[in-house]
Amino acid sequence: MKKGIPLKKLIQLKYPFKLPDLPKPPILSVNFTDACDLQCVYCNNPLFPYPRTMMSDEVFNCLLKNLKKAKINRVRIGGGELTLHPKCALMLKQLSG
Ligand code: SF4
Repeated sequence: MKKGIPLKKLIQLKYPFKLPDLPKPPILSVNFTDACDLQCVYCNNPLFPYPRTMMSDEVFNCLLKNLKKAKINRVRIGGGELTLHPKCALMLKQLSG
């Protein structure tokens, strides 16, 4: 595996909780909002009311600062339906930058 993700990193990413001595979390899960206007048949949160709360600028800026500080470079965005956040595109751009 000369190209792509080194094997050690791949194991850390796929099985992070099998390696209790990791120096930092390999990934962080973030919800921009818990609002959802969809009705996926497999949803485990079918009682999600709409609308619900949105991540504030203050919390998002704190997230950006701490991701950089902790050198966490993988973020999984979930929800809710993240595109319901009015600043979703900007937030994704800032996270990827
Ligand atoms: S919360 Fe997720 S799974 Fe549930 S309806 Fe919304 S998008 Fe679908």
